[in-house]
Amino acid sequence: MTHDVTLIPGDGIGPEIAAAMEEVVAATGVDVRWRRERAGAQVYEGCGTPLPDSVLEAVAETKVAIKGPTATPVGSGFRSINVALRRAFDLYACVRPCLSMPGDGSRYRDVDLVVVRENTEDLYAGVEFEAGTPEAGHIIASVNERTPGAIRPSSAISVKPISPEGSERIVRYAFEYALSRGRRRVCCVHKANIMKATDGLFMHVAERVAEDYPDIAFECRIVDACCMGLVCDPADFDVLVLPNLYGDIVSDLCAGLIGGLGLAPGANIGSECAIFEATHGSAPDIAGKDMANPTALILSAAMMLDHLGEPGAADAVRDAVREVLAEGTSVTADICRALTDSAEGAVGCAAYGHAVAE
Ligand code: NAD
Repeated sequence: MTHDVTLIPGDGIGPEIAAAMEEVVAATGVDVRWRRERAGAQVYEGCGTPLPDSVLEAVAETKVAIKGPTATPVGSGFRSINVALRRAFDLYACVRPCLSMPGDGSRYRDVDLVVVRENTEDLYAGVEFEAGTPEAGHIIASVNERTPGAIRPSSAISVKPISPEGSERIVRYAFEYALSRGRRRVCCVHKANIMKATDGLFMHVAERVAEDYPDIAFECRIVDACCMGLVCDPADFDVLVLPNLYGDIVSDLCAGLIGGLGLAPGANIGSECAIFEATHGSAPDIAGKDMANPTALILSAAMMLDHLGEPGAADAVRDAVREVLAEGTSVTADICRALTDSAEGAVGCAAYGHAVAE
């Protein structure tokens, strides 16, 4: 069977890691017909938008996409393509498994947890008002009328929407994920002691949903204490479900537990479409130098193969990655440095991709 998949190589290291990923997928023998689309900062310079309509049309048609990272300017400039794609296709569940592998260079062993991040709401919704604008002034005046002095008039405003529906579907997704994969615990992560309305709602919905899953243990943790727990004893965690912004931050923390961003895969799942992508960004500091570690995107492709109904190929990809890392002779600079404190003897992104494909 031929699978049509949209491929968005993206910015920075994106094209390099996408090429390695393609080679590995080809080696599985699964027939994937790639529909290549360009999105990101480079496209913005040429055509005035970082996300041309053709990309949206392609994803809508193929229903499955894999993308490299896309850059988002800090502070000003265009808005995130990832946020736009997640919103356009209502990709409400961001799933990021973090699994230790022999030779991953991490000081932690036996990490096996999954971050399930809500992907459409929270401070990430992008509802923001710049300081000094009439819109910000209007909101500030309205809040200060009820709670005098609550917001300084010079402030910028970001809105944190958390809905019961949005919370319920992501928590349910986390429980169903745990059930279908034989996982035993779900931990709801929040800051409901301070954000009683928004995070409080998320936590209460999670407590209610948990009652429908008596065979899965459930607990709630405050996000700051949860971060400390993850760093001290990651084996104490199984499935974590979080609102969007904490999920973003905790995902990178968890990537650090399994050898770094170069090894952390991910998927954005909706009811109609799915877009697979690594946790990391475009890594401009190493772009174009054949230094990137493509493992995260290769493992994202394994998640994609599972999604396409090709579990044998998905397992073969994961096994190949484990074998190459365990052997330790063909590893990229990030892993080499973690193992030996030096990048000497590291292979490039392309050579690592060949090794996994072989
Ligand atoms: P980053 O993840 O790009 O890089 C952080 C550090 O990790 C850098 O030192 C980088 O070299 C290293 N790194 C990341 N991926 C690596 C890999 N595969 N192999 C080896 N080393 C790797 O984070 P950043 O520098 O904060 O962000 C750069 C850009 O990426 C920004 O424009 C940001 O908006 C964007 N970004 C995009 C996505 C996405 O498209 N999903 C996610 C996060 C950040």
